[in-house]
Amino acid sequence: MVMKKLVLSMVMAAVALGGIAATKVVAHRGYWKTGGSAQNSIAALVKADSIGCYGSEFDVWMSADGAIVVNHDPSFKGKRMEQTSFDELTALTLANGENLPSLEQYFDAARKCGTRLILELKVHSTPEREAEAVGKIVDMVKKYGYEDRMEYISFSLNACKEFVKQAPEGTPVLYLNGELSPAELKELGISGLDYHLSVLKKHPEWIEEAHKLGMVVNSWTIDNAADMVWLIEHGVDLITTNEPVVLKQLLSGTYGEK
Ligand code: MG
Repeated sequence: MVMKKLVLSMVMAAVALGGIAATKVVAHRGYWKTGGSAQNSIAALVKADSIGCYGSEFDVWMSADGAIVVNHDPSFKGKRMEQTSFDELTALTLANGENLPSLEQYFDAARKCGTRLILELKVHSTPEREAEAVGKIVDMVKKYGYEDRMEYISFSLNACKEFVKQAPEGTPVLYLNGELSPAELKELGISGLDYHLSVLKKHPEWIEEAHKLGMVVNSWTIDNAADMVWLIEHGVDLITTNEPVVLKQLLSGTYGEK
């Protein structure tokens, strides 16, 4: 309780500094820490939307036969994402009983949601496969008319460059891996950084540097209230979290209330 009060007073101080309004909530792999949900499930997307998250993050792979599916790990239930057919992958079931979703199914479900779609392309085995996956994703986004609600992220610099090349100009593309400065990313046409908290703590000056360059700053994966407060106080634009309700409470000043 003492800790909660302390955190809350830190947030109130951040509000006074005007840092709060800008920070937005991104649910990591959707809102999955709740009944009936699972990481990267359609339910997690719908639940992230239902609690008013600014964005819902999800991970995608390209199957052996060139279709895009939503899942985090390189292999799931013994099936390698890149070496397994689309039909086999989408027949697998997630922890909540849902089938592993295709990107198309995910986008169908997103029609009823207003949340932004934060798509992470996982690091694939070759740059060619990443380029092909980016092309397929961008085409599907166009088909659905979702151009204005997409943000692309990746640990692969190659994939980020492909999104910059293939997505419509102005689409946010954020790099995850942490070793490049904002100026270096800007040089590549990448519009923001989405870095681990440890990177931003090592280089807090990158936050202001990015903002001066007109870039966006996101941080992951922040589940601890004190860490959230540090990022809010430092003016980070987006926080990706497995605890979107906690972050929302912090931002609305209701954290710690009974
Ligand atoms: Mg991810």
